[in-house]
Amino acid sequence: MFAERLERARGLMAEQGVDLLLLSVGADLPYFCGYEAMPLERLTMLVVPRDGAATLVVPRMEAPRVTERPEVFGLRAWDETEDPVAIVAGLAGDVGVAAVGDHMWARFLVELMGAMPSTGWRRASEVTAPIRSVKSADEIERLRAAGAAVDRIAGRLQRGEIELVGRTEAEVSAELGRQIVDEGHDRMNFAIVAAGANAASPHHEPGGHVISSDEVVLCDFGGTMVGADGVGYCSDITRCVYTGEPPAEFSELYDVLFEAQAAGVAAVAVGTPAQDVDRAARSIIAAAGYGEYFVHRTGHGIGTEAHEDPYIVEGNREPLAAGHAFSVEPGIYLAGRWGARLEDIVVASPDGADLLNRVDHRLAVVA
Ligand code: ZN
Ligand code: ZN
Ligand code: ZN
Repeated sequence: MFAERLERARGLMAEQGVDLLLLSVGADLPYFCGYEAMPLERLTMLVVPRDGAATLVVPRMEAPRVTERPEVFGLRAWDETEDPVAIVAGLAGDVGVAAVGDHMWARFLVELMGAMPSTGWRRASEVTAPIRSVKSADEIERLRAAGAAVDRIAGRLQRGEIELVGRTEAEVSAELGRQIVDEGHDRMNFAIVAAGANAASPHHEPGGHVISSDEVVLCDFGGTMVGADGVGYCSDITRCVYTGEPPAEFSELYDVLFEAQAAGVAAVAVGTPAQDVDRAARSIIAAAGYGEYFVHRTGHGIGTEAHEDPYIVEGNREPLAAGHAFSVEPGIYLAGRWGARLEDIVVASPDGADLLNRVDHRLAVVA
């Protein structure tokens, strides 16, 4: 599988005139070779010449963590007193164009630019994103398993089985984090809990606010499930509950959101430009008078990273392909008052949207 992925990368490198691919910290590396770099100051880098064998350059002390795959890459462990940038430059040779991982530390890029003065530089995602964004059947099943796991947690939230009133947002966030792991994820990535007026801040940091009766509680959470091959796939879901009977004004807002999210999902079709999914959701929110309160794009791709290509945003005319996995998550945020977001992960398929989250989309009333 990894060898096949690297072959496809080499194909795109040839098309794009890229001679060398350099992958370090970030999601590209595990996707293409099954090894995840520790995000440290010591350099880890997969060096992939377009024509030639790939080499994984790792700190000597981390070499025991590497599952060797001689059919995919050779291993070059470097000692503490060696210069890893010089090693990479030596393996690279005198290349015209190198593409570097988007998440590589800037310090290494700056040093590489010094060590390879005649090389031009591009972002590796130009090569890797078109490959990573289209999921295989196996990847879709892994995303589905992660989606089902967070659905179970959301179901408990909606049935009132996760205590809210009287606890702080931070406490509920910690509880969601534990359940994410208990439900089969290897790690939790985030658990936003935003109650009352805090729900008007899309990426609210759960804090000391004690959740009370008659508040909206927005929960947006997800984690990563790592497979036997060392590659992890992400979940991401948002549901809102109300701790009491919601006022009519909030119910109306939520109905608009519900309809907008469903319209976004219904717009998903192979060949449809990504921006049309955003337009479908946004037009309903705008028609209801909330347009200025929907302050973010409708969605993001998901896979080995929680946010990746394709982005569901105005201006992205990329046609959806079968296997594109992404969120549909419109929101309405009234500063100082309240807010709501509704998020599912879907996969574009010849039959439309394949839903990876199926738990109730309505606003649940919990005591
Ligand atoms: Zn977000
Ligand atoms: Zn989310
Ligand atoms: Zn999301």
